Amino acid sequence: MPEGPEVRREADRIARVLTGEPAAEVWFAFEHLQAWSHCLRGEVIQGVESRGKAMLVRFANGVNIYSHNQLYGRWFVKPRGELPVTNRQLRLAVHTEKHSALLYSASEIEVLSDEELDGHPFLKRLGPDVLSAQVRADDIEALLADSRFRRRSLGALLLDQGFVSGLGNYLRSEILFVARLDPAQRPVDLGERARSELATAISDITHRAYRLGGVTNDPDDARRLRGEGVPRREYRHYVFARSGKRCRLCGEAIVKAVSAGRRIYTCPCCQSTGPSGSS
Ligand SMILES: [Zn+2]
Repeated sequence: MPEGPEVRREADRIARVLTGEPAAEVWFAFEHLQAWSHCLRGEVIQGVESRGKAMLVRFANGVNIYSHNQLYGRWFVKPRGELPVTNRQLRLAVHTEKHSALLYSASEIEVLSDEELDGHPFLKRLGPDVLSAQVRADDIEALLADSRFRRRSLGALLLDQGFVSGLGNYLRSEILFVARLDPAQRPVDLGERARSELATAISDITHRAYRLGGVTNDPDDARRLRGEGVPRREYRHYVFARSGKRCRLCGEAIVKAVSAGRRIYTCPCCQSTGPSGSS
């Protein structure tokens, strides 16, 4: 499933063609939504936002199209009148005079007023979006000390969208590696410094993935490796999906395990000592 940085980049790509334009036509595949087409025609699109892994197309009349792609949904942006070559089923089309944003295969599409957004069952349980300009590492550090979260294992907590939203499986492995923490540790086990470093890693690595299109490895190292002709899957991450390969920092073999039901990758040397190892 795409994680917060991928959804945000997709929202940016759609926003570039839709924002500020009036909707020439909005088409819904689902019958129960079709009555909205009339209400949205001619309305100016105010913006396209991601909230965790969900997306909102926001209209000037206070109406929003909410979508969550889960594993299957896929957006395409095309010049108006062109369709992508795909066997997928079109579920939503937002046309401006010159462009079309087309959502295929997604089944979670809803139309919500601004007032309904806060009460939406998915949106209302989301923790702060790590990529939001309003969320800083200090805010994340405060949540790590919060009684709701401080006794959860880090492996489970970092996947919980109610803690902070936008993290997913590759970010979890990468954040814990950078913070040099074991997934079984809990916030309550950490000293103040380790907790602060974890909050910084959550923020920095997620923003790096957004900026660099999913790359979480050290940017200089990634650039050097790419320059040497190393394929993207080999230079993209520190540890994720690198089972058996050498740790980029210490040379130890990366280990794959399961944490909270999902695969996780760690360096047994860099992450074995917990907070005392984070010098
Ligand atoms: Zn290592």
